[in-house]
Amino acid sequence: MDPKVANYPYLGPKAPVADICGSVLWGLRVDQVNGDRKQRGWGLTFSERVSTPYGLGPLVNHYKLPRGREAIWIPSYGAIRGEDLDPSDVQHRLFWILMQAGVKVLFVGGTSGTNDWRGLSTEESIRPGDFVLPWSFYRGPNMAGTLPDTGIGGVLPNLAQMASPFCPTLSDWLANYAEQTGHFRRVHRPKDVRVILRSPTGGTFESEGETAAWRVLTKVMSETDNLVYAMLHGDCVSPILCRHLGIHEAYFHIAVNWAEGHPATSTDLTETLDQIYVHDLPQIMLDFGALVLETIPIPGPECPCITLLKKRPDVYQDAMTQR
Ligand SMILES: [Zn+2]
Repeated sequence: MDPKVANYPYLGPKAPVADICGSVLWGLRVDQVNGDRKQRGWGLTFSERVSTPYGLGPLVNHYKLPRGREAIWIPSYGAIRGEDLDPSDVQHRLFWILMQAGVKVLFVGGTSGTNDWRGLSTEESIRPGDFVLPWSFYRGPNMAGTLPDTGIGGVLPNLAQMASPFCPTLSDWLANYAEQTGHFRRVHRPKDVRVILRSPTGGTFESEGETAAWRVLTKVMSETDNLVYAMLHGDCVSPILCRHLGIHEAYFHIAVNWAEGHPATSTDLTETLDQIYVHDLPQIMLDFGALVLETIPIPGPECPCITLLKKRPDVYQDAMTQR
């Protein structure tokens, strides 16, 4: 552990619950979101960018909620406008802040292109307008798994096993809640369809080649295992770092289009997205997110998010060059 990083002062707020929702709120400016939350009776007690050992971090908003809970909101996964973003820098700053803030529950939702191989052949397929609780993820090259110079991450001294990468307790909770709202055509739970999030590689969305490859692969997987697998192409904030930090990641996705080149689609991808982001989603997601932050439970130590971080024998540390 680098002492410069270990002793770096944290000057931001603390809270047990954090919201870093991304594209579901892209139709709203930051001040519009905060204005809406003030109208709900939330006290905004902090709204500043926070310095981190990896560079100046994103804006952190801290609220006192009506029933006494404290929560923070970091817009858009921690991304900063106009900066030349190395995705791992963004994630390191974000997760360092979440760690220092003592966050236990990370509420994050994004939008995605559905690459369900079943297409329009059944009403049960994942279609634009559906709410999805992902089952697992496929790691892209940019997903951070460590916090540099903190000793956190890697496979020593703790191994983060990645079964149930997204908090199963909170996944059920979000699914029940999404069903109650009546906003979504269908809610897909991991027990019904094994949705794999494909984290992006930067620079673009999925290519037609990726779409075709994953469509065939998930179809074969489904036939082989007698289960239904499907790929969603969208954001995937590191469940690995969440597990290393003991954070329950409450992740949802809203399918907003078919993946690029999927045979079920007949519409222009960006026109569909912009209509949904700017006009259809904002108020729904403001209401949804506010109620989540006010009421989402904090799971106990028996949750797989906690039990699947396994301490490794101390001797493994002694087998290396000592500092
Ligand atoms: Zn959990």
